[in-house]
Amino acid sequence: MGITIEKLVLRHIRMPLVHFFETSFGRTYSRDIILVEAAMDGVSGWGEVTAGENPFYNEEWTGSAWPLLIDYVAPRVLNFTFTSAEEVYGRTSHIRGHNMTRAGVECAIWDLFARLHSQPLWKEIGGGARAQIPCGVSIGIQDSVPILLDKIRVELEAGYQRIKMKIKPGWDVDVIREVRREFPSILLMADANSAYTLDDVNELRRLDEFNLMMIEQPLAHDDIIDHATLQRLLQTPICLDECIRSAHQGQQAIDMGACRIINIKLGRIGGFGEARRLHDVCARHGVPVWCGGMLESGIGRAHNIALSTLPNFTLPGDVSASRRYWKQDIIVPPVEVSATGTIAINDYDGFGYEVDHRFLDMVTVRTETLT
Ligand SMILES: [Mg+2]
Repeated sequence: MGITIEKLVLRHIRMPLVHFFETSFGRTYSRDIILVEAAMDGVSGWGEVTAGENPFYNEEWTGSAWPLLIDYVAPRVLNFTFTSAEEVYGRTSHIRGHNMTRAGVECAIWDLFARLHSQPLWKEIGGGARAQIPCGVSIGIQDSVPILLDKIRVELEAGYQRIKMKIKPGWDVDVIREVRREFPSILLMADANSAYTLDDVNELRRLDEFNLMMIEQPLAHDDIIDHATLQRLLQTPICLDECIRSAHQGQQAIDMGACRIINIKLGRIGGFGEARRLHDVCARHGVPVWCGGMLESGIGRAHNIALSTLPNFTLPGDVSASRRYWKQDIIVPPVEVSATGTIAINDYDGFGYEVDHRFLDMVTVRTETLT
């Protein structure tokens, strides 16, 4: 069955975070998010552009995504007939970079296909390897070590299975030592968001004593070669995030020995089609993957849940409960995590939750309908 995209509705929403989130590149207090609705015959699929408010994680930001969607992505998909959502990635691959913006539309069309096939999104993408996905949390840089320890305690008591802490120079070895002293046996990992260089190799090697599951993206956001050098010098597995933007780059990183784990983010990789290809490359090489987070609204969160049902997502990801981020989410029910730190998959069509249209209207800053 071919699907012709008759209408794209873009919505720019603004929602304050429950707590600020700090990484090595700064603090985020409030999110500006673009949602994409792709419609045919009165049925809508939903996607989310996961770019941040500033071009600090990658080159994209909310402000760049809006015109790109209108001027370059929409004209390539509107009134085009797709026989499979797998074709959407190629329709926009003439655009250099901007994977998160492209993925907003790509994921909406996967969701639309799932709904028109009357099946859940996880089934549409070929997932379903597990009925519950294991959840971890990502904890930003805090004002003090006692505050960090308190936050970790709260998350462990809520059931989360692994703790990821953000690190940067000056907030690393000594802080992790305190965390390990307090919590000797938890699944613990550190994410540096590219805050180090090979000049820091001695400091990074000191992390080997803490039995971390992995250190995520210690070196430059666009580097694979130095990571290969560093991995040879570290016992701790390196997980790559920012620098893996395609399945091909994932293959190259694995071939070079630049990592032993890969974090797959739907937006960074350009949507479900390429995420599946990267997942398969990793599976063939025995490299486990997990799903990273970008402070998504409920819609992006639900897409991450579907993605996490593919077989090689064997490590707990960053997908956590709505309430960790939002006082009220734009979906009902909100995403909830069990006392044992899992999210249950459901059998509803599409991404598996209802859009709360009344609340969505309240947080919408601007909209654009393209036909
Ligand atoms: Mg990361």
